Amino acid sequence: MYLFNIYSIVVKFIKPFCFPRTMSLKVIPYGGVGDTLFGELGGVQLLFIDDEQNTRFMLDIGQRPDHTNDYYGFPFRAPRHRALPISEFLGSYPPIENLYRHDYMERNGKKVGPVPLDGILITHEHFDHMGGLPLVRYDQPIFVNEKSLLQMYIWQYVGGGINEFVDLYERSMVGMSVSGEEKILKGIESFIPRNIKRFRPEEPFKIGNLDVMAYRVDHSVPGACGFIIDTSAGKIGISGDIRYRGRRPETTERFIDKCVEEKVRYMFLEGSLLHFPHSGTETDIAQAVAEVIKHATLATISYPVRDFDRLTSLYNAAKHNKRMLTISMDQALYLKAYNGSDGFPKLDWKYIGVYIPPMGNGFFDDPRYPQELAREDYKMWQRPFLDKGEWIQHEGKIQRVTINDIKNYQDQFLMTLPGNSSLMLSTYEYIRPRPGSKYIRSNPQGWTKGMELEDEKKINVLKDFTMYEGPQPDFFEPTEKRDHLQIHITGHMNTQEVQRTIDRFDPDITTFYPYHTLQLDLFTRFFKYGNYVTPIRGQIMELK
Ligand SMILES: [Zn+2]
Repeated sequence: MYLFNIYSIVVKFIKPFCFPRTMSLKVIPYGGVGDTLFGELGGVQLLFIDDEQNTRFMLDIGQRPDHTNDYYGFPFRAPRHRALPISEFLGSYPPIENLYRHDYMERNGKKVGPVPLDGILITHEHFDHMGGLPLVRYDQPIFVNEKSLLQMYIWQYVGGGINEFVDLYERSMVGMSVSGEEKILKGIESFIPRNIKRFRPEEPFKIGNLDVMAYRVDHSVPGACGFIIDTSAGKIGISGDIRYRGRRPETTERFIDKCVEEKVRYMFLEGSLLHFPHSGTETDIAQAVAEVIKHATLATISYPVRDFDRLTSLYNAAKHNKRMLTISMDQALYLKAYNGSDGFPKLDWKYIGVYIPPMGNGFFDDPRYPQELAREDYKMWQRPFLDKGEWIQHEGKIQRVTINDIKNYQDQFLMTLPGNSSLMLSTYEYIRPRPGSKYIRSNPQGWTKGMELEDEKKINVLKDFTMYEGPQPDFFEPTEKRDHLQIHITGHMNTQEVQRTIDRFDPDITTFYPYHTLQLDLFTRFFKYGNYVTPIRGQIMELK
């Protein structure tokens, strides 16, 4: 035993000198960093190559929002049969051979080779982190937190299969009909599940030969994770998108604690929203909204539909005022799946109800028309909600709320408003909000030309219903002017929080790689000891 110990100690200290390891890790950023020092917000696509460990993986495969908005705006996108060449032409996604869908590669005359990566590791379920998945081949392993996977699954299915995040329909797959003739396979015949490897926070897993540990972090979606990965160049930390002011700041604190404790040599840290001051917590949101809607007749609000921390804050605000928060059928489907986890409201709670909007011919809840016909205006997954208990008063069971309920009892609800100006107009036009009605924007003011135009249209609608109260200071950050009442906090750190995070690391041990930011010049000022490297799009970085 004694001899063995001596032997292992000798081997431990001598071996590195006798057998020096190359110990290097290459990182090529394709998105989430700039072509210049200006940086890029979102669209994270970082390729990690560890030759020593014979492992290659991508961190995120996000749609690059600003780049995409230069050419497209919702609902427009590249036609399916040209999606791949257009992506290559514009540099939307990484130029990695064989990464993309078999059908798209074949359609564009490419031979399909072997799966190129050991994995794509998804930090969280935001489009600027995983929006490229629908282009990726089905057999490419995708590593996803199970909470993110649940959201991606529902998102895909309520969207009618446009976003093929979790499985795909192989287009142009030619097969045989029952009578032996060639036919193009469609629907279930062409359905292929993706090669998804689900993980849970704080349960170690491997990507190729690398040991990975995921940690839950606070952000604006339930599945957000940061990572510590053991590579041949040492341990690297990857923040994903993080904040400290949501509903679970202790998770971000714990992740950063771990990165410091484990002495990560390289830290990839996001700095999304350094370019303006922001503050406030989710609890502040609940209190502020509760106050604003206290004396309102109709109270309406818009917010990011898949932000269930926000939904929980708004539920608390509604409950405080004995109002019912009405949510969309999509949101109801997510809440049903979460079943009260993470403190999210359950569907059978008294102050939450499922809003059934008039659709198609608008027959629903109109006694002049047979209600069997009304059902046909709704998708299959929506129809069960039509049969839920009709709202008469707030009750502790799953309740459906119609536009007539809201029209007739305006001061009983906090209504989640459909997300665009034309639906806002048609909803208000039917309801006819009475004097004293409110609209609260609980999402950020638009920052692209397209979004600014949409904000303008919403203001036109508000003016028409005498609900526009003019430009106002941000509710939590009065130095910031908004074009309308805005009660919102972001999913990211502010400058003080970024500084505090960086200051926790020993500059002799950790080198930072700032990403997912527009303000690299500002960001780099926080690294007092020059312990940072600025990633540039397409340029190989060698971590030794
Ligand atoms: Zn995010």
